[in-house]
Amino acid sequence: MRTFEHFPQPTHPNQKPCPLCGTHDDKPCVLVQVDGTERDRICEAQPVHVACFTELDVARYRRDMGVIYLWCKEESRCRR
Ligand SMILES: [Zn+2]
Repeated sequence: MRTFEHFPQPTHPNQKPCPLCGTHDDKPCVLVQVDGTERDRICEAQPVHVACFTELDVARYRRDMGVIYLWCKEESRCRR
């Protein structure tokens, strides 16, 4: 994954915050492909802070499905 030094700021109405922490904090980020949006080898991507992958305890491994997923702040049922 390519790392970007700055997180996109909310100057555009469609620019959503980091789904893991819910902020636009100006920290390094990566672009994560949005599942189900791929069309003609192009897809939507969501910026996510690099630090949020490791600093927040939001990762889970689903052994039976072979996937690793992360709980997003806005959709989390488990409040920290
Ligand atoms: Zn974040």
